[in-house]
Amino acid sequence: MSRPTRVLILGGGFGGVYTALTLEKLLRDEIRCGDVELGLVSRENYFVFQPMLPEVISGSIGLLDTITPIRRLCPNTNLYTRTIESIDLDHRGVASTAGFGSRQHHLHYDHLVIALGNVTSFAGQPGLCEYALPFKYLGDALALRNRLIHTLEEADIEQDPDVRRALLTFVVAGGGFSGVEAVAELNDFVRAAAKSFRNLDPGQIRVVLLHAGPLILPELPASLARFAQDLLMRRGVEIRLQTRLAGATADAALLAGGFRIATRTLVSTVPAGPNPLVAMLPLKTDRGRIVVDAALEVPDRPRVWAVGDCAAVRDAKTGELCPPTAQHATRQAAHVARNIAAALRGEPKRAFAFTALAKMGSLGRRSAVAEIFGVKLSGFLAWWLWRTIYLMKLPGLDRKIRVATDWTLDLLLPTDIVQLKTERAVGVRREYFEPGQVVFREGDRGDWLYIVTEGEVEVLKNDGAGTAAPLRRLGPGECFGEIALVSERPRSATVRAVCATNVLAVDREAFGALFATLPPLRGFFESLIETRR
Ligand SMILES: Cc1cc2nc3c(=O)[nH]c(=O)nc-3n(C[C@H](O)[C@H](O)[C@H](O)COP(=O)(O)OP(=O)(O)OC[C@H]3O[C@@H](n4cnc5c(N)ncnc54)[C@H](O)[C@@H]3O)c2cc1C
Repeated sequence: MSRPTRVLILGGGFGGVYTALTLEKLLRDEIRCGDVELGLVSRENYFVFQPMLPEVISGSIGLLDTITPIRRLCPNTNLYTRTIESIDLDHRGVASTAGFGSRQHHLHYDHLVIALGNVTSFAGQPGLCEYALPFKYLGDALALRNRLIHTLEEADIEQDPDVRRALLTFVVAGGGFSGVEAVAELNDFVRAAAKSFRNLDPGQIRVVLLHAGPLILPELPASLARFAQDLLMRRGVEIRLQTRLAGATADAALLAGGFRIATRTLVSTVPAGPNPLVAMLPLKTDRGRIVVDAALEVPDRPRVWAVGDCAAVRDAKTGELCPPTAQHATRQAAHVARNIAAALRGEPKRAFAFTALAKMGSLGRRSAVAEIFGVKLSGFLAWWLWRTIYLMKLPGLDRKIRVATDWTLDLLLPTDIVQLKTERAVGVRREYFEPGQVVFREGDRGDWLYIVTEGEVEVLKNDGAGTAAPLRRLGPGECFGEIALVSERPRSATVRAVCATNVLAVDREAFGALFATLPPLRGFFESLIETRR
């Protein structure tokens, strides 16, 4: 018996899911009689409707209502909920990690559709990996909402006015669609939620949007972008144009030109970088995206196709590179499915052409901007259209009912301020410190061990007369903070960064477990403490 032809789709976003959906329809008979098998590999077993993600921040849509299980959407596709590790184009195979244990899983393919999207890349900007919150996946929206509530909780009981000001300052970087929609929802949420806190005055809240260009929403006509800008400013968002985010520390957003904004919440929606898996492939790329021909097939790699944000697709009519939007990803997905079906049946492939029908951006609280078939709309009508169109596009009747119910209840009920504590113990994390920034102070609780990976720190000890006397300097490969952890006493010295410094921080629990169970490590720290004392 010959095995079925396997079409393997990588990615469970707009590109991957809509390819599977269309193939299920086009190849119904071939799938039923076992000639063709569809497979989809994705990290999650659900599809996220990203255009509605910003509303998860404010809670006007329930967390689980923007997502749909892929198994229900594509019942005739084998779903592999796994993280893809590598793609072997020469041997036509994909390796992924098994859900439990460290076993690797290999899948062979006859046709491969790469729809892995892009990632928020913080490379090259110090501190962003450690302190900036990305905004792309469902987990990001949950993490951000929790952070907002956490900072409000802290600010409510904080006595130090500077710390309180930083806690009540929220910074979003990126004035494109996702940044603007995120800042609009964030602004509405924190101002409404603050009313439930006894000691918070919503007037103390500062929400800042950073944008590198002269006007936000560069994808839209200038008049609509100006409308959005004016409306957000009227609602209290401070918009800093021609301003780039250059880095971050635990308590500040660092701007190009040496400026800083003290904050505990920094969201970065820029820049998008290639998915690391895509970057590893030996394929020609354009701005990090896989170059494909007019039929969406990779040149010189027959039966390998790419769609969505990870593909550099040129429109056959205009010759222009398609923007990374859901609108384009779904059209490309349907098109690639038709071409795969044609290839399986020995029919000719067709070139991709699609002109965007509409551009829309929600501004929160019953306002939006939209350009639909060239007609510019703003305010309530645009918002009503935004909601109607996206509700129609949201896959699954059950999700449509849930979202419509969420929106109705949101009009009637007060803002929810429940903070879900979902984080697991950290163990080890990376941290970044600016020159002069204090890592910890003498007298603080000893909760982390630090290992310098780049840069230099100095250890200072109070001489009793109020002066901090330098004890020593430590560089890459050296550690500090062990005395308080081992002796269970407060910090016996202050440590601050001499220059831009990266460290690896090991938390008290992880350090304690290693110290108790690894005699050579225990010996090392005991003699280190002896020497330093
Ligand atoms: C907040 C936000 C709002 C947006 N709003 C709009 C809008 O209003 N209108 C619009 O047209 N577009 C919008 N977009 C853009 C749109 O969502 C993207 O263009 C679209 O999601 C691209 O689809 P894709 O399938 O190419 O990538 P994605 O949707 O990103 O899907 C990639 C898939 O690959 C999976 N994956 C990646 N790496 C691995 C791996 N190693 N192993 C396993 N699986 C992996 C991911 O889990 C994911 O399922 C928005 C985007 C964001 C972030």
